[in-house]
Amino acid sequence: VQIELLTIGDELLLGFTIDTNGAYIARALAALGVAVVRRGTVGDGADEIATAVREALDRTGAVITTGGLGPTADDRTRDVIAGVFGRKLHRDDAIFAQVEARFRKLGVPMPPSNVNQAMIPEGARVLTNRHGTAPGLWLEDERGRWCAMLPGIPREMRGMLKEELLPILAGMVGADPTVVLSRTVRTTGIGESALAEMLGDLAKGVDGLPLAFLPAWPGVDLRLTSAERRAPSAEACLTAAAAKLRAAAPRYVYGEDDTDLAGVVLDLCREQKMRIVTAESATGGLIGARLTAIPGSSDVFLGGTIAYTNFVKNRELGVSAELLRDRGAVNEEVARAMVEGACGRFGAEVGMSITGVAGPDGGTPETPVGTIWLAARVAGETRAAGKVFVGDREEIRLRASQAALDMVRRMLTRQIT
Ligand code: ATP
Ligand code: MG
Repeated sequence: VQIELLTIGDELLLGFTIDTNGAYIARALAALGVAVVRRGTVGDGADEIATAVREALDRTGAVITTGGLGPTADDRTRDVIAGVFGRKLHRDDAIFAQVEARFRKLGVPMPPSNVNQAMIPEGARVLTNRHGTAPGLWLEDERGRWCAMLPGIPREMRGMLKEELLPILAGMVGADPTVVLSRTVRTTGIGESALAEMLGDLAKGVDGLPLAFLPAWPGVDLRLTSAERRAPSAEACLTAAAAKLRAAAPRYVYGEDDTDLAGVVLDLCREQKMRIVTAESATGGLIGARLTAIPGSSDVFLGGTIAYTNFVKNRELGVSAELLRDRGAVNEEVARAMVEGACGRFGAEVGMSITGVAGPDGGTPETPVGTIWLAARVAGETRAAGKVFVGDREEIRLRASQAALDMVRRMLTRQIT
């Protein structure tokens, strides 16, 4: 099955909204065995939408759109595509009641314009929206050419895709189709070329599966893709190939797919019955935010100090005022004193500290922008490292948080360095 994707909205053309719907749908369909053969974006204009849908129906005969299903005047998708299929709109009382009920539940009066959302083209199949008011629509002509309309709001689109559209498409591709599936092996603490060297021949692909190197602030992700197999065999091949990558770079791999290193550290601490504290200067609480973003962190993460000024480093963590005065805040001694102060005062077995210059100002010849000292403490042992990260302020801070978490991960997994 081949389809075209059309995302609709002036905001997308202007670049104010990034087309995440297109990427999300393409991935979900690939996993189902449906190939997206073309992706397009048009503005909110009626003519643009009509032309784009007509062309896609002529070319491919199968179109998914997102956006423009709302109640306002700039939402024309429903009317225009009904016109392309030559269908009139009528008020659907059941849908009207649903929209009304949704507003009643929210306790607000329904704006009159929401009546539009109950206007359904003749012969349309309604795709239920359990996450918002705009129903989705499926229109099909006598030749079997179809267009499915999903809302623009990503959360509503994702819900409707999963609950309504994917089951329909799964029925169309038949049993056990060829699918495109990926597996990501996540590494950190090693550069792209060093990693490629370490992987040797595997860098060119594993068991016939192509391998992509994807560097970003968390580290280098290695993505394996299977495009020619049916789902069970694809999963088995990906699992075997991922294991080979793990074995080839064991020190640097911290997980697969969406795994966050913060979650890995929490799990390791939980297993070993240790509790975590943080002492953050340059990252201003970023590690704490990453740890607490993970559900269930409260049994492991005690809390931390945002020790941004020397005053707080001294008062709250006990870093020596003389040390700070004589040597400044960005050096190994301060990083060590911060983590030891935090672990000691809060009574934790595991700690992390970060002090550095995130920029864009504040760098000196000896301590350029991007200089970060970090320290980690696990069960009485403290390790520290100095790094110079590249990137803008945000990237430097993210990379620093990742490096500190990785230092703890290595200590908890008993790695020598
Ligand atoms: P509404 O009922 O809110 O009007 P809608 O179905 O009419 O929903 P749009 O008005 O086109 O959808 O978009 C609503 C919001 O959804 C946009 O402001 C934007 O934030 C988001 N959005 C729309 N299209 C996309 C897209 N392709 N990718 C990511 N976000 C999108
Ligand atoms: Mg809208």
